Amino acid sequence: MSTPRFLVDSESLAHATAVLSGAELHHLRVRRLRPGNELILSDGGGHARRGILVALDHRQALVRFLSTAATVQGPALHLVLAQAMLKGDLSDLVIEKATELGVSGIVFFASERAIARGCSDRRARWLRVARSAAKQSQRNTIPEVSGPLQFAELLHRPESLRLLFVEAPTAPPLRATSEPPDGVLAAVGPPGGFTPAEVERAAGAGFRLVGLGPRILRAETAALAAVTLCQFLWGDLGAGRE
Ligand code: SAH
Repeated sequence: MSTPRFLVDSESLAHATAVLSGAELHHLRVRRLRPGNELILSDGGGHARRGILVALDHRQALVRFLSTAATVQGPALHLVLAQAMLKGDLSDLVIEKATELGVSGIVFFASERAIARGCSDRRARWLRVARSAAKQSQRNTIPEVSGPLQFAELLHRPESLRLLFVEAPTAPPLRATSEPPDGVLAAVGPPGGFTPAEVERAAGAGFRLVGLGPRILRAETAALAAVTLCQFLWGDLGAGRE
């Protein structure tokens, strides 16, 4: 079994020992860790340290670190999934699965056919989902979840390769580029799709239009297929990388 991981704040990684309490202590109990067991503490921002559980009572757990250096480990590819607004449960699904697949970030955006309505605490919810998926999949970094951006703002994203997934039969499939991109933005539309005007604006702003085969996928399926393909071509899911 892999070494269990727990999330702490960055400050907790700066000393010889660290204390776990609250939700992380609960998680440690659920995992039935005992003094002497090894674990990894991570700050969710890319820093992690290996340690030994030295003491445990009902209020807290004490961890002594094994090595002096904290390792920094970010995703191999800077990959951002841009997803048109979805209903809450579908947003949760996309955040959870994209996090497992190693995206650096997820940004939601408004589009003509996307639902506009939103609840005020959705950011907190997005963060919770990302955090728990990052932990479950043993990532060192929690992807940033942000938005909703206006469609015009999406067109100004800085990633060197920006892809717009469209279900048009003429859209070519995604292919490897000769140079690996510095960053990739993969944009997927809402359940009703992008309007022709949006596709045209994105193409005019430098987005590459790409397809995911001859079938129409639901937005959430398209998002996960898009992320998987980008990770395969340029990230850490391909045969070319360790
Ligand atoms: N307009 C369609 C469905 C949109 S599917 C309709 O209602 O008939 C939602 C989003 O998933 C699309 O905007 C697109 O970004 C993505 N998508 C779905 N199937 C796709 C495919 N075969 N290739 C590329 N993108 C696809």
